[in-house]
Amino acid sequence: MTAASSLRCRECQREYPLTATHVCEFCFGPVEVAYDYDKIRRNVTRASIQAGPASLWRYHDFLPVDRDAAIDIGAGFTPLIRAKNLGKALGLNNLYIKNDTVNPTWSFKDRVVAVASSRARELGFQKLACASTGNLANSVSAHAAAAGMEAVVFIPHDLEVGKVLGSSIYGPTLVKVQGNYDAVNRLCAELAGSYPWAFVNVNVRPYYSEGSKTLGFEVAEQLGWRAPDHCVVPIASGSLYVKIRKGLDELAKVGLIDEPKTRMSGAQATGCSPVALAWEEGSMNFRPQRPNTIAKSLAIGNPADGYYSLVQLKETNGACGNVSDDEIVAGMKLLAETEGIFGETAGGVTVASVKQLAERGHIHPDELTVAFITGAGFKTVEAVAPHLKPALEIDATIESFEAAYNAARPVEVAV
Ligand SMILES: *Cc1c(COP(=O)(O)O)cnc(C)c1O
Ligand SMILES: [Zn+2]
Repeated sequence: MTAASSLRCRECQREYPLTATHVCEFCFGPVEVAYDYDKIRRNVTRASIQAGPASLWRYHDFLPVDRDAAIDIGAGFTPLIRAKNLGKALGLNNLYIKNDTVNPTWSFKDRVVAVASSRARELGFQKLACASTGNLANSVSAHAAAAGMEAVVFIPHDLEVGKVLGSSIYGPTLVKVQGNYDAVNRLCAELAGSYPWAFVNVNVRPYYSEGSKTLGFEVAEQLGWRAPDHCVVPIASGSLYVKIRKGLDELAKVGLIDEPKTRMSGAQATGCSPVALAWEEGSMNFRPQRPNTIAKSLAIGNPADGYYSLVQLKETNGACGNVSDDEIVAGMKLLAETEGIFGETAGGVTVASVKQLAERGHIHPDELTVAFITGAGFKTVEAVAPHLKPALEIDATIESFEAAYNAARPVEVAV
């Protein structure tokens, strides 16, 4: 038995059994998993967690799935890196990178899918499905393969080659939809009404979103059981951004860390920035957008958790980055060149946002700041390929090498 006790409406607090539902029948608000925190407190200690596996399942006491029912391909427990070089470049003395590019399918989506797919199987579903901007489809396809389940994944027709192939290799039914993510999502919401499938981010979304909490758990544990001062998190639907804080809050609730005072900042691309724009205007209502950005994994014009993201920005005194495609490319290169980490375009959004927020005084140089890099760069090579230094092409002789090397070296100017 897990400590999950019910699904609870975030608006009217009505409770429902732990089934495949995502909206309140009474007020149509979103429902979220509620827990018996006394039970968790009785079951866990720092030591019991540290004795667990090097995956997100070390936090199974905080998740709505039985440990033995887990579909486990090794998601989570990724490195937290002290980013001294990047920090120096940005004028930040205490910057960390949470490197979620090294998950089994190379994005943080393995966290949400690990939990959603496991719960779906527990509930008796035989097929997994999703509406995806790319990374989710990769992860659903992989988890279904490992569990021997069928997968039907829906994506916009114009995704990067790496994201498409990163699903196909696992053998799902891959459906390219003529339309953007918001159209794909609308279609899947309709299909979920008539097909008995677990759409991980539609009818089993309450379980899906719990997976993102594990990023909050890990960062606190990796910092020696303390919450960071400031997090910078990319926002697509806003679920990740909201749930990292829920993770920190839960650790405090069961006595594993002190009450967090973490400032939660967001990161969006200008070509799809409904939350950033509303935040800039001081509004709690965002206007849906038609996305146009190279950060395709964040291209959700009508974010499901947009409102809750704005509430959290306000409550935690956070700020929201809003960065152009050129800044995204520069951010990807800066992260790679300073820290040796190749993040995808969403990572470029986060790094460029950290830079922007630091320059504008929203991040204090001494705050312990964690930037979340959520997906790997090989999925979005199209974005950076035209901007990289070309290789030297030579014959296999020393003369040829030296001629090419000296010609390519920057001229040193004496001062
Ligand atoms: C899905 C995704 C996010 C954020 O997703 P939310 O919908 O806001 O939870 C961030 N980065 C990457 C790479 C993603 O694929
Ligand atoms: Zn309700």
